Amino acid sequence: MTTHPASPVVAWRPNGVPIEASDVLHESFACDVFTIEQMRERLSKPVFTSLRETIERGRPLDPAIADTVALAMKEWATERGATHYTHWFQPLTGSTAEKHESFVTPLPGGGAVTEFSGKDLIQGEPDASSFPSGGLRATFEARGYTAWDPSSPAFIMRHSNGATLCIPTVFASWTGEALDTKLPLLRSLEALDRSVVRALALLGVHVSSAYATMGCEQEYFLVDESFYYRRPDLYLTGRTLFGAKPPRGQELEDHYFGTIPDRVLSYMTEVEHALYRLGVPIKTRHNEVAPAQYEIAPIFEHANVAADHQHLVMTLLRSTARRFGLVCLLHEKPFAGVNGSGKHLNWSIATNTGLNVLDPGSEPQQNMVFLFFCAALIKAIHRHQDLLRLSVASAANDHRLGAHEAPPAIISMYLGDSLTEMFERIAVGQPHTSSSDGDILQLGARVLPHLPRHATDRNRTSPFAFTGAKFEFRAVGASQSVSLPATILNTIAAEAIDELAAMLEGSLVSGKSLPDALEEIIRHVFVEHRAIIYNDDGYSTVWHQEAAKRGLLNIQTTIEAIPIWTSPKNIELFGRYGVFSERELTARQEIAYTQYFKTINIEAETTERIAMTQLLPACFSYLELLNRTTIAHAAEHIALEVVHVTKQFTDALTELRHQNRELGGDTPAQKAKHMATNVLPAMERVRSLADKLERIIPEHHWQLPSYQQMLWLK
Ligand code: ADP
Ligand code: MG
Repeated sequence: MTTHPASPVVAWRPNGVPIEASDVLHESFACDVFTIEQMRERLSKPVFTSLRETIERGRPLDPAIADTVALAMKEWATERGATHYTHWFQPLTGSTAEKHESFVTPLPGGGAVTEFSGKDLIQGEPDASSFPSGGLRATFEARGYTAWDPSSPAFIMRHSNGATLCIPTVFASWTGEALDTKLPLLRSLEALDRSVVRALALLGVHVSSAYATMGCEQEYFLVDESFYYRRPDLYLTGRTLFGAKPPRGQELEDHYFGTIPDRVLSYMTEVEHALYRLGVPIKTRHNEVAPAQYEIAPIFEHANVAADHQHLVMTLLRSTARRFGLVCLLHEKPFAGVNGSGKHLNWSIATNTGLNVLDPGSEPQQNMVFLFFCAALIKAIHRHQDLLRLSVASAANDHRLGAHEAPPAIISMYLGDSLTEMFERIAVGQPHTSSSDGDILQLGARVLPHLPRHATDRNRTSPFAFTGAKFEFRAVGASQSVSLPATILNTIAAEAIDELAAMLEGSLVSGKSLPDALEEIIRHVFVEHRAIIYNDDGYSTVWHQEAAKRGLLNIQTTIEAIPIWTSPKNIELFGRYGVFSERELTARQEIAYTQYFKTINIEAETTERIAMTQLLPACFSYLELLNRTTIAHAAEHIALEVVHVTKQFTDALTELRHQNRELGGDTPAQKAKHMATNVLPAMERVRSLADKLERIIPEHHWQLPSYQQMLWLK
């Protein structure tokens, strides 16, 4: 009998061994990443061991090995075609930044060599003055520092004419204050590590380290390039500022999980291949709820690497689209009246031994580790609803949250009926009845396999839901960096874990048994914090009333959320855990106001410009046409309607132009408030009238491509 290769042979290795189709991915996965295996191969044993201590145990980097590591990294990168390197960082713009340096150094006698020293690897000094600093930099000097983060691997980014070695770095001021999103994330991970190791030891589980795990589901829209460039609102602001709802939207619910169109599928495949090369473990792709909306999701990873990878996902989604004549929109609400895009942040805590502390297992009521950490999360989320709300606040996400398609602005927690019931039983002192999970799903056809029913069913309306063995934070916006929400989750979890650990220590010292002590703690937490748990429809008005009764926060807009940055509670919390200093918090608050103000200002100016130069002329030319033709007589009521709405539109536009000339004050906070209270409503009025006109003015007069055209992607 001959043995057949498992899959078709696509090529032959130099040694004659066939490469099967199933090997291809294996060969290309992470091929552009300076992985641990690459390091092991290219570094001497002592250097490798020392670097590994830094990467895996967070030990400070030994400066003596920097030059050797740099040399190995340069050789690896240049072999793969890299000509330049860059420190790759995440300033407070929300995206990533890079400044490329060539490896080439000319020789005095002619010719050139490639050079890359340990210093080049470890530290960069980009000018910080053009990045948002919220005042952290201005009082000192322009210089900012990027510092190598060895815990996230270096990688090669390819473009059509070469490649660049990217070194993940943090970005800080010369006084060590964070000017980026990565440094606070790393600090929060250290806080979480300490608290989890301590708590687990009390529960009899001894581990040397723990970290947050994260997997982010990214939603996005695709539009045809040819429409995009005829929509100044889309390319200047990322969202449509005008656009009448088409006669058909997502009502028929036929898009979600529908067949993926060929052009889109080819695009997705190319994105995935590029991401595989970068070691990003993409797992899932599908159509989303709205027409022209899609989703991509990876397998979860260490939170720091996952946050970097999330940026790469956004970057490649955007850059690859162009090759398919498409534009990828990551805005939270590109089309009013149509579903917006979010980014579900799946989060849990794992140990170096591979334990997921939020895995309930088959007997959650007996699982002390799970009970302890789940209780800590209940406490953390209830106490710090404000911070979770803040972590997703942006001008763009304001259009999405609470809009009957995304979680409400009220932060609550979904545990599912069986877990809630279990906590309730513990709270009233009857912990050991059998759990109600694990029953069998009845499908009603004998031929089908028996499926176990998950104890935690889906509830898509909850902003913070327990889904199996992790929490899913669903209020995160599609375009935002996941670092801030992750930083906040890590910090508030660390605090609650520490507090419960201290209670547990106290009880154990007083002679209580571990199960009794734990039961007492859970009872205490549940009674005090159960108000945060809500398992029903988060979109309903009933919930809004109920949440108010429970005293939960309902922070509707970014402008109301921004002051949370510097509340005394939060200054104290972040200070105690060394995640943000008070100055850093004040700076971030200032940046949040500035970004809000600038975003709305650009949108309002764009609204004014399009209305003045494209839409009003369309109204006039149609009116002129109606005037000239005899049909006008027959269609007098239509002409009158156009005249009437155009008049209202002109008045609204005059008001917007007036508001656009006002500033509202000198400080970023005053300017932001002017935008929220005066400019936004004026913009919305202009838009609603324009959308009315779009429905009655002929397409060839109305120059903007319609929602109808853009959302039905061919
Ligand atoms: P769901 O059906 O709840 O969306 P999936 O298993 O499809 O669940 O996972 C969704 C996302 O959650 C994926 O990115 C996945 O990797 C991530 N995820 C799963 N387990 C964890 C975990 N322990 N920690 C963090 N993320 C996780
Ligand atoms: Mg999900």
